[in-house]
Amino acid sequence: MSSSFDSARVAVIGGGPAGLMAAEALSLQGVQVDVHDAMPSVGRKFLMAGKGGMNITHSEPLEPFLDRYGARREWIAPLLQTFGPDTLRAWLRELGVETFVGSSGRVFPTDMKAAPMLRAWLHRLRDAGVRFYMRQKWIGWQTEEETAADASATAHSAHTLVFATPDGERAVTYDAVVLALGGASWPRLGSDAAWVPLLTSRHVPVRPLQPANCGFDVDWSPYLRGRFAGQPVKSIAISFTDVDEKVHNRQGEILLTETGLEGSLIYALSAAIRERILADGELTIALDLAPGLPLERVMSEVTRPRGSRSISSHLQGRVGISGVKLALLHEMLPKDVFADAPRLAHAIKALPVKLLRARPIAEAISSAGGIPFEALDQHLMIRHLPGVFCAGEMLDWEAPTGGYLLTACFASGLVAGRGAAAFTGARGASQ
Ligand SMILES: Cc1cc2nc3c(=O)[nH]c(=O)nc-3n(C[C@H](O)[C@H](O)[C@H](O)COP(=O)(O)OP(=O)(O)OC[C@H]3O[C@@H](n4cnc5c(N)ncnc54)[C@H](O)[C@@H]3O)c2cc1C
Repeated sequence: MSSSFDSARVAVIGGGPAGLMAAEALSLQGVQVDVHDAMPSVGRKFLMAGKGGMNITHSEPLEPFLDRYGARREWIAPLLQTFGPDTLRAWLRELGVETFVGSSGRVFPTDMKAAPMLRAWLHRLRDAGVRFYMRQKWIGWQTEEETAADASATAHSAHTLVFATPDGERAVTYDAVVLALGGASWPRLGSDAAWVPLLTSRHVPVRPLQPANCGFDVDWSPYLRGRFAGQPVKSIAISFTDVDEKVHNRQGEILLTETGLEGSLIYALSAAIRERILADGELTIALDLAPGLPLERVMSEVTRPRGSRSISSHLQGRVGISGVKLALLHEMLPKDVFADAPRLAHAIKALPVKLLRARPIAEAISSAGGIPFEALDQHLMIRHLPGVFCAGEMLDWEAPTGGYLLTACFASGLVAGRGAAAFTGARGASQ
């Protein structure tokens, strides 16, 4: 349904980066935008993402950038062609936020913070006439019978949305709606995935939400857990074969936790690890504890006579293995391997560690799964629910950390917002 420009009114539900970008796109087309959010304030996960450095995007060229979205690359590409990492940086500059490229190629605001950026953005949105309604949890659509009986509903009542508010339920009618409700990680920040049954009951397909950029459980002994939980394991490599028979072998840093393994290297590999565990029930990865030394070198060093030196000082002196790395060897290997230098050398280069399951989605940095792009048109409108647009993490894509998540959230918010403006027939909006 479309209406004239003068009466166009669109709801954006969810005030994260995707929803706020949709609101901006709509207001730029002259549409009256109401942002509703279940929480007392918007952008809570965005602010959390900014803790310890707001990594907003990445400076690598667009082609490798797009590869980060894996199987969803072809769907994300048109979004990033509309609003890619360079456009995002220019947009930030316009907002008064300068950015810099860190040593890893990641892009940060110069002050590293999310809060000043969010403040400036909200200020600009309010100035543009965007209205914010907090503590308004969207709980579904009013049924057709209820709408017909409701005198306040307008004739075009396809989107009479119902919100749970501190003052009870409230129904509001809009010409179109942009849903930007987030995924299922860190639900206490607002994105609790309560939207899933609301959409599936309207026959919208939703792929199961899975943890992404997450840790994995390992059945550690009480000794290892008690003595080494919380310790980083620096310069290590992980290798394993994924469900498509692709061999992953990557170096980085991991964190040994009470429950298993986490850290940047694990997060970067988490999608492939998760899928293999889903297929096989578990996955044994190989840890290379001395990634800087080839096997032959480790072999020649470890097999040298150690005289009266203990095995610990022998390994430390010869191949630099000590502390948490040594503890991992003791944890995973039978005692007799320590008396068998060639076997020990092989274990140092490929220590098997069994990953049992992903950590719960509530702890993950992001989530995979959600509404598949196949159910949406190029404006991110649900094909069989005209006037209902979707953006952000609630769509079925995933990416590693590094700014790729936020970039795709902003881009999809913009595309959905422009699409909703065009749908309502707003002046200047292009279909
Ligand atoms: C610890 C942490 C660190 C991160 N670090 C980075 C990083 O460095 N770089 C990066 O790119 N990404 C990072 N991310 C991920 C990034 O923050 C998210 O991908 C992004 O916030 C998702 O944006 P969104 O707008 O889709 O959803 P969200 O930001 O989750 O916003 C969804 C909004 O919808 C509201 N909502 C949900 N359901 C309802 C409902 N029924 N009714 C009304 N409102 C509702 C919520 O309250 C929320 O405000 C990090 C995430 C976490 C948790």
